[in-house]
Amino acid sequence: MAERVIFHVDVNSAFLSWTSVKRLEHGESDLRDIPAVIGGDPGKRTSIVTAKSIPAKKLGIRTGEPVSMALRKCPDLVIVPSDFAWYRECSRRFIAACRNYSPDLEQFSIDECFLDMSGMRRIFPDLLAAAGKLKDEIRDTLGFTVNVGVGSNKLLAKMASDFEKPDKVHTLFTKEIPAKLWPLPVPELLFVGRASAELLARNGIRTIGDLASADTAYLAGLVGRKAAEQYHAYANGIDDAPVQSAPPEAKGFSVSTTTEEDVTERAEAHAILKDLADSVASRMRRAGYRAYGVSVQIRAGDYSVRVNRSRQTKLENPTDITREVWEVSCRLFDSLWDGRTGLRLLGIRLFGLTTEDSCQLDLFGTQEKREKEERADRALDAIRGKFGRGAISLGPRGNLAGRLRDDSREPGGSEKQDPPGRGKG
Ligand SMILES: [Mg+2]
Repeated sequence: MAERVIFHVDVNSAFLSWTSVKRLEHGESDLRDIPAVIGGDPGKRTSIVTAKSIPAKKLGIRTGEPVSMALRKCPDLVIVPSDFAWYRECSRRFIAACRNYSPDLEQFSIDECFLDMSGMRRIFPDLLAAAGKLKDEIRDTLGFTVNVGVGSNKLLAKMASDFEKPDKVHTLFTKEIPAKLWPLPVPELLFVGRASAELLARNGIRTIGDLASADTAYLAGLVGRKAAEQYHAYANGIDDAPVQSAPPEAKGFSVSTTTEEDVTERAEAHAILKDLADSVASRMRRAGYRAYGVSVQIRAGDYSVRVNRSRQTKLENPTDITREVWEVSCRLFDSLWDGRTGLRLLGIRLFGLTTEDSCQLDLFGTQEKREKEERADRALDAIRGKFGRGAISLGPRGNLAGRLRDDSREPGGSEKQDPPGRGKG
């Protein structure tokens, strides 16, 4: 059997590039060329740098630091708020472009996916040329650049896409491991946390090559047997994880929002849940799923009060209807919250995913109504796909989209899925 060939496609500075695409349409400056960050309003509690341009990086600005600190390093810094509705739209376009190259696609985060190209040789006899074509096509039609890592498995492909950026194709096949992988420092290896890397370095294991040739019993004495086996395998480029084109059953879609002031009124909480239900249900619809499970999470504003709870329920019929998700969420919320503690965080998670149709049995004549609602939801999705999420707002609260946080580490919309201890590329 021929060797597997996996692509890992990774958008270069995704949030910054995507924001620039929109700004350029409006004749504004390209954030990639000036000191710029994605972050909130400097006065607000949630305002940290979530992405930075290369010129900002050169001024010492780091992801995760407060915007106020970044401003001290560069008073002329351009600060742009996050826009998750737009990111999701760009992500959708990015994934659609990649899917033209292989149906075997696993979305790994909002700006990364794996493609199993092993079965595509009849269509793309030269897979390396196909990688270049995919990269150029995304740049020329969508306006942002990607790196494509081409490797013998997911691990090697992902390592390869992290080599020199931007707008590059790199290979890391098994035979290239000694030359391209082994000279790299240990922290570059996927899933090796900073603490483990430091521990290994203190014991003379500094490069991935050192790790690959280390005695596993010795390694196990340092980091434990399980981690030792995994590190040793990865350092040798061994990884047989399949590209998972369908998410495992346990996965789901989730969304949450932190508010600037405590939420103390039930009606306000319900209004926020409406926005959240709208956001998470439309994202799930776009990925083609319905959910059997709904869960609601709340957290108190006052950390001395120990309220950080969630409650979930299972539905008889899977749903992707915004109204149903909202109603169930309000019911769960009412059972969770007694109204005595101000809340700062609300979240909804949809799980127990299925691709099957909703109602098989229609005892109460509700099916027709549901189908109508499903059509209405999809019409809304389509309009938003064209004009953005702000085009239509559901409630009196207006458009909360900019404040929603896609905090899921789950398929279809996770913001980042980096293993602990590794920076984002
Ligand atoms: Mg990226």
